[in-house]
Amino acid sequence: MPWCETCDRYHAATAAPDGRCPVCGSPLAGAVAPTAAAAARPGIPWHFWVLLAAMTVYLGWRLVQLVLWLL
Ligand SMILES: [Zn+2]
Repeated sequence: MPWCETCDRYHAATAAPDGRCPVCGSPLAGAVAPTAAAAARPGIPWHFWVLLAAMTVYLGWRLVQLVLWLL
């Protein structure tokens, strides 16, 4: 959580993307540099895509069942 010593308050990380206080402009303690924050963010895990594929197959099959039930 970025902390401004000058203003004596916390700021949201999204409110200070450049690591500087949006109010007074002084460097924030505990702020992560934008490039480091982007590099540290993990990507979408592989099991999300497995779950998405399984859900697509399941819902597709349920859709086929619905169409066959309606006809
Ligand atoms: Zn400040």
